[in-house]
Amino acid sequence: MRRIDPNNFRVATRATPRQINRQIALSLVRARQPISRADLARWMNMRRGAVSLIVNALIEEGIIFEGATGETSRGRKPKFLFVDTRSRCAVAVDIRPTRTYFMVTDLVGRPLVGITSFPTEREPKRFVSELASRIQHVLSDHEELGECAGVGIVVPGMVDRSGSRVLFAPRLGWHDLSLLEPLEVALGLPVSIENSGRACALAQLWATRGGSATPDDFVFVSVSDGLGVGVIVKGELLRGQHNVAGEFGHMALSIEGPRCACGANGCWEAYVSNLATLSRYFGRDLTEEQPRPIEAAMLTIDDLIALAHSGDAKALGALQSTARYLGLGLASLVNAVDPARIYIGGEIAAAWDLIEVIVRTSLKERTLRPVGRHVEIIVVPASDYPRLKGAAALVAAPSFAAPVVA
Ligand SMILES: [Zn+2]
Repeated sequence: MRRIDPNNFRVATRATPRQINRQIALSLVRARQPISRADLARWMNMRRGAVSLIVNALIEEGIIFEGATGETSRGRKPKFLFVDTRSRCAVAVDIRPTRTYFMVTDLVGRPLVGITSFPTEREPKRFVSELASRIQHVLSDHEELGECAGVGIVVPGMVDRSGSRVLFAPRLGWHDLSLLEPLEVALGLPVSIENSGRACALAQLWATRGGSATPDDFVFVSVSDGLGVGVIVKGELLRGQHNVAGEFGHMALSIEGPRCACGANGCWEAYVSNLATLSRYFGRDLTEEQPRPIEAAMLTIDDLIALAHSGDAKALGALQSTARYLGLGLASLVNAVDPARIYIGGEIAAAWDLIEVIVRTSLKERTLRPVGRHVEIIVVPASDYPRLKGAAALVAAPSFAAPVVA
C-alpha cells in the first residue's frame, strides 16, 4: 500500500513526506472510490485528522470531491470521496502506422465521446495540423464536457525521456522527431507522449476496474501493426538509462527470418505482427511489397481471424504459426523478466480461443524454469481499447503519480 510510484511519467526527484502522503491519498481514492475519510485513514495507517488535512487540500484544488451515496440503516448519510471527473476531460490519441484513433475520455479513462479515426499522415507537419484541427473540432462540438486537461498520445516507437521527441518509430519512418511542442502550440493544451506498449502497461497498473490487484511484476504485449511491450518491475515501468528499454519486439528470434520494419531480419515483431500473419496467409512477404498489393490491402487481420473462426484452414494455419512464434518470444520474455502475469492486447486477442493452446505449448517449450511455464496470461479484448486507455492515463495519471519537485 505504500508503493507510490506506479506511474512515473515525470522523473521524480525528491519529494517531501507531505507530498508523498498526498499522492498516496489520491491513489487510494482513485483505486477505491467511493471511500470514506475513515477508511482512507485506515488504509494510510494515519490519524484521521492528518488525513483530513490532505483531503481538504485536494478538495480545494478540485481534484477530488466529497458526496453522499445512499444512507445507512440509522439514517445517517455517510460521505464518500471521489476523484472529480465531472468538469474536466482528456483526449486520448493512438497513432498507428495506417490510421490514427482518438477519443475524449473522463479523467479516469472512461470514454465520453465515441472513437474517431483518420488515415495517418506521415509527413509530420501535416500530421500535426490535421490531428490538432480534428481534436479542436471534437472539443468545440462537446463543450459540455468541460475543460480539457490535456492530450495523451501513444506512438508505435521509442520516445525520449522528456516525452517531447519520437526517437524512432520504424513503421512511420519517424526519426528523432519533435512532436510534443508543435502539438502543444497548435492545440494550446498540454500534451504527453509515450510508447504504446508502455502506456498500455501503465494504464493496466493504474486501472481502477476489477477487484483483483495488479501484481508488481507484469508485462503488457500489444500485438498489432507492430509489437509493443511494456515491462513493469516492482511496480515501476522499466525504462533503462536512455528510456529505450523493453524493446522486446526487436529481439532476434532468428539471424535471418523475415525483414523487420527496424531494418534488421528475424525480429520477434516480424514474426507476429498483423502483417506477418497476413503475409503467411497470402504466402509471400507483404512487407517487401510497396505499395501493398490490393488483395492484401482489402483483407484486414480482423477479416482473417473471422475466416479462421468460420473454418478457413489457410487463415487458421497463418494464425497458428503466429501463435507459435508468439509463445517462443513470450518464453524469452519470461526468462528475462519473470513476470507474475502477461497481458496480451491487440487484434490477435480476438483469435485467442484458436491460438491459446499453441501459444502455451511453445511458451512451455522454451521457459527454463517450471514456474515460468505457468505464468498467468490475461487477454485484453480490443473492445477495452487498451491503447487509448493508455493514452488517457498519460493525462490523468501525473496527478496520481510521483510528485515532481523542482
Ligand atoms: Zn526489428
